Order: sequence, then C-alpha cells, then structure tokens
Amino acid sequence: PYDVLVVGGGPAGAAAAIYAARKGIRTAIVAERFGGQVMDTVGIENFISVPYTEGPKLAASLEQHVKQYGVEVITEQRAAAISKDGYVNVELASGATLKSRAVILATGARWRDLNVPGEVEYRTKGVAYCPHCDGPFFKGKRVAVIGGGNSGIEAAIDLAGIVEHVTVVEFADTLRADEVLQKKARSMGNIDIIMSARTTEVIGDGSKVVGMDYEDRTTGEIKHLAVAGIFVQIGLVPNTEFLKGSEVALTRFGEIEIDTKGATSLPGVYAAGDATTVPFKQIIISMGAGATAALGAFDYLIRNAAP
Ligand code: FAD
Repeated sequence: PYDVLVVGGGPAGAAAAIYAARKGIRTAIVAERFGGQVMDTVGIENFISVPYTEGPKLAASLEQHVKQYGVEVITEQRAAAISKDGYVNVELASGATLKSRAVILATGARWRDLNVPGEVEYRTKGVAYCPHCDGPFFKGKRVAVIGGGNSGIEAAIDLAGIVEHVTVVEFADTLRADEVLQKKARSMGNIDIIMSARTTEVIGDGSKVVGMDYEDRTTGEIKHLAVAGIFVQIGLVPNTEFLKGSEVALTRFGEIEIDTKGATSLPGVYAAGDATTVPFKQIIISMGAGATAALGAFDYLIRNAAP
C-alpha cells in the first residue's frame, strides 16, 4: 500500500504529490490524463512569477517536477469508487484496487459545453470559459457571455471593464443571477442582456471566432451577433460522480466538502482543487489547496498508525 495516493494529475494533484513526497513517504498519483484542464489551455498569464506560459508547457513542467521526487505516476486509469477498511481503497474502472493509508482527491471539474456547431473547433480561438484567465485577450473587442446565472452575470460585469461591449445571452425568459448582480450589470453602459435566446452556432473565419447565431425563442427567428469572444458560463461540473454513495460528503452541486486542512468527511481522505467547495477555481489556487491537503494528510498519518 501507499502512504499517500493522489487521485487526479492536474495542478492540485501535482502539488499534493510533491508536498507528500517531500516528507519521504510512499506517494503515487493515479489520473486519467496528467495535466488536467491545463492541457486544454493556451495562454496562461496569471500564474504568478511566470508572466506567460502555455498549458502543455506548464503540464510538462508539473510532470517533470513530480517525477523528480520519485512519485509513481499511473495514467490512463479512472477511479470508479472509494471505500475504507483500515486502508483507503480506490477502485479503478479497470477492476484493480489501489490501497493507501491516506488519499487526496484532486479530480477537478469540467465546464459544461454548449454542444453547438463551432464550439469545439473554436475552443481557445475565441470560445472561452474563464473570464479571469481570458478576459484581457479581448481588450477593446465585443464579446458574448452565454448564461445568465450568477457566473454569467459576474463574468459580464468583469468583462465589461476590459472589453468594448458584452452581450449576455440567456436561454430562459428570466435571469437566475442574484438581483444585486443584475442591477450592477444593468447599470453598466456596455452590457446588453438578451433573454429567451437559444445559442445555435459559433461562427468563425477558419482561424478565430467572428460571431454567433441564436434563435429568438419567442419568434423562432435566427439572429446573429458579431463578437470576437464567446464566454460559456452554463455551469462547472465537478468530476466527483464516482464518489456518489461513498462516505465522502458532497454538496448538492457535487463538490467535495472540505475543511481548512483539506479534510473530507471520511477520515484519511483529503481533497483539493476544482473538485471541492473552494470558492474560486484557478491554477494557483488549486496548487495551494493541493499543498494544504498534502500537509493535512501528513498530519493525519503521523497521528494514526498504519492498519
Ligand atoms: P484539473 O485540472 O481539472 O485536473 C483534474 C485531474 O483529475 C486530471 O488529471 C483528470 O484526468 C483527473 N481525473 C478526473 N476524474 C478522474 C477519475 N475519476 N479518476 C482518475 N483521474 C481523474 N486557471 C488559471 O489560473 N489561469 C488560466 O489562464 C486558466 N485558463 C483556463 C482555460 C481553460 C480552457 C480551462 C478549461 C480552465 C482554465 N483555468 C485557468 C482553470 C484551471 O485550469 C483549473 O482551475 C485547474 O486546472 C484546476 O486544477 P485541478 O487540479 O483541481 O483539476
């Protein structure tokens, strides 16, 4: 068995593994895809002390740093269930079971897709998911935000300070965002809100986004918006389906509940990053949370004898 088994190989998992391995304990990472969401990112400008990097480059340095500490890295394996019998058991979809004294869950999250033509083709070429990350790339341009929930309206307010104009496109005939956010958005001179609008297509010129089409659901008419960026804000889904029914408590949104040391409701199981209740989902925040969870797990190990 391992001392610490990290599930997930994104920024949170990599940081957790390095912090654990530096304690001289037997550490492994099991992940579907090393690098996580970072692998889908082009420019990164907010990873403090590195003014500019690119996702695959950062992912490669994460892997190199992890391997420098002799962490066993198992990829292309998906965790399917977790249980405890003294050791924590992580069952893989392949049928194997990994045993560890402590486990750190860092399985991240995924943005809910629009599922319209052009979205995948123009992802990172105008189709964006994170205003904190990609907002400044659209300085002085017109953008759309899809989704009128809290994250959509927050994104619109954030972007309106950087870009020329923001159009919020909401499917329903009302906005779900908090009243205070709606009021703030309406008070800004460069935000338009369109409701009852079903996004039908992302339009590009072969290399980047130039606009989008939507159906006016009251008339059935297809309308066009000329925009350089489309921020999809229709939900972030934690990759925690495999924990449902386990002793690891989740919120109703599926986020893993953690305390300030990263401990979950199951003793010996810690969690970090986008899969958890952490309020902001960013690379640097996930790394800090991974370090916290590893130190939390180490604290647990020195207080609890091996089974
Ligand atoms: P993830 O990066 O999601 O990693 C999760 C890991 O878990 C992966 O290795 C995955 O394969 C694995 N996994 C999932 N389920 C299982 C399972 N059942 N079994 C085994 N392994 C599993 N943040 C910034 O700070 N700056 C940016 O510029 C930026 N740009 C972004 C651009 C895009 C397009 C996207 C999608 C996100 C961006 N983010 C950015 C957000 C940032 O990528 C995330 O906050 C960060 O990657 C979260 O790290 P994590 O380790 O918690 O999860």
